[in-house]
Parts: sequence; structure tokens; C-alpha cells
Amino acid sequence: MNPSYKLSTAFFCQAKERLLASLSDTRLHYTRIIRASRELCWEFLIFVFFNVRVHRIGGKDLFLQDNSPAMPPFLETIAVKTKSSFEMVNITSHVNKVVAKSKVNQGNLMVFTPHTTTAITINEDEPGLVADILRKISELVPKGEGYSHDRIDSNAHAHILASIIGPSVSIPIIKGKAALGTWQSILFIELDGPRNRRIMVQIV
Ligand code: ZN
Repeated sequence: MNPSYKLSTAFFCQAKERLLASLSDTRLHYTRIIRASRELCWEFLIFVFFNVRVHRIGGKDLFLQDNSPAMPPFLETIAVKTKSSFEMVNITSHVNKVVAKSKVNQGNLMVFTPHTTTAITINEDEPGLVADILRKISELVPKGEGYSHDRIDSNAHAHILASIIGPSVSIPIIKGKAALGTWQSILFIELDGPRNRRIMVQIV
């Protein structure tokens, strides 16, 4: 959960209790009015800094409108079993299912791989282009070129490519859908397979 959201929720709940107590007291006197006024100043500050509004109805009753996101970040994990050492897996349909499940209409999604020898990119899932990308990146950082890390587990080329391509992508969510272009797909890149991998999708 977003720390500021947590803080603001706790804070305005306390403010609500104090304000309700002072406004419902029939023996309202000067000190209580001062205190209530001070609370209203706090309400203003809460609204400015935390985007949480405190409304009053009929002078005494209150309802609180929290303009912060209604839900904490939504997180799901996608499991992928790769079949070869170098491979691209189109995970767009899986990510779309997570977006639909989250019910977020307007927001942002992040696809993240928590592995050091995989990467995520967005591009066209056309077999010729996929083969071109895999061939070019393997030429860019060939396997077994005397890398220091190869003394441990012979996969330095995969680590280097993972760092160059990157472990995540971020996509806007518009009208409940990932705003990908017509020819764009979310592609998971295996650089040291075959292995069981997991990919996180977080939606805010
Ligand atoms: Zn390694």
C-alpha cells in the first residue's frame, strides 16, 4: 500500500472522531469552537497534501470522501516455462487478463521479471522479427567470450543482455485496457533457458 495513502487514511479517521465529538456536543463553548476551527484547518491541509476531502452535511453530520485510489496496488504473478536457451514469449494475453481482473479503469501497469537472465520488451510479435531480434542480440553479446562471471556459471552473456534490455516495462491503462499500439505485444525474453520463470504484473 502507498505509505501516504495509509497515513492519510489513519489521520483523517482520527480527525473525524475528534470533529464529530466537538460538533455533537450541545454544550458547545468557545474552546470547542476553536478546536473545531483548528480541525477545519487540518481538513484543508489534508485535502491539499493527501487529496482526501472531509464533507459536512447539515452542520453536524459528516461524510468522508477519499479521493485517493480506491484500491491498493494490484499484484499478480504469471508463471512461464521456457523451452530453449534463447526465446521470446508473448505474454500480452496473460497481462490483459490481470488488467481485467484488477477492474482498474484508468491507471498504470508494470510488468517486471525478478530474474537476472531474462528481460521484458514491447514490440511486434512477428516470427521473422522475433528471430531477427534474437539473432542480433546474440551477435551483440556472444556467449563465452572470456567473461569473468563465466568462471562461476557460464552465463555472463545472459546477464549482460538482461541488463541492456531491462527487467520491466510500464504501460498506461486507459478505459480498463492496456494502451498498447496495434502492433505492440509484451514480450518476455529468456536469455538462459530452459527454466521455470515468473513475471510480476503490478497495477496502480
Ligand atoms: Zn550467472
